[in-house]
Amino acid sequence: MKTRTVLVGLLALGGALLAGAIILFMPLKIATPQLFGMHCAAQVCTEDEQDLAAALELFRSARGEVEAMADTKLPNLHAVMCKSDACYARFGGGAERAISFPFLGMVVAGRSWQNYIVRHEMIHWLQFEHFGAFETMSYPAWFREGMAYALSEAPASDIPPEFAQWMAQYREWEGKRSLTTVLSNKPLFD
Ligand SMILES: [Zn+2]
Repeated sequence: MKTRTVLVGLLALGGALLAGAIILFMPLKIATPQLFGMHCAAQVCTEDEQDLAAALELFRSARGEVEAMADTKLPNLHAVMCKSDACYARFGGGAERAISFPFLGMVVAGRSWQNYIVRHEMIHWLQFEHFGAFETMSYPAWFREGMAYALSEAPASDIPPEFAQWMAQYREWEGKRSLTTVLSNKPLFD
């Protein structure tokens, strides 16, 4: 799963002036998916109303697992669960399988309705919430994505080699720290 993390390229350009531009580029449709033809229940939205129950079940079980693991509540953001590629693109998705935007939520592609992918995005929500959105974007990819892969329990068969390496790097960095400890301190990198 190649989960694109947004803003990194733009942030690399540096400068506080960019912050306003970055926010403008974010797909604000995620804040009100029902205005763009989606059917929503609570914070979960689908293209077809018939898929809503399955999406809710997937979201709720993943959220319960991640909240129990992290011993904290997730922020109340949207999960836009697409089935078509057009929907995924409309809400800001690209070539990756799912994507999270700070302050807004996640967009999940039709081929990515798996528990571990939703959990992966929820780990990014925790990073945004606990470290700060802009801080998270400034952290090395091995930390950001390695943490999301390590904690979402993706099957080995679905982890590309470069991400497996990042996952191992994150685990080494994490050491014996609990997730609560990791989340309650801004990470330091040697
Ligand atoms: Zn990711």
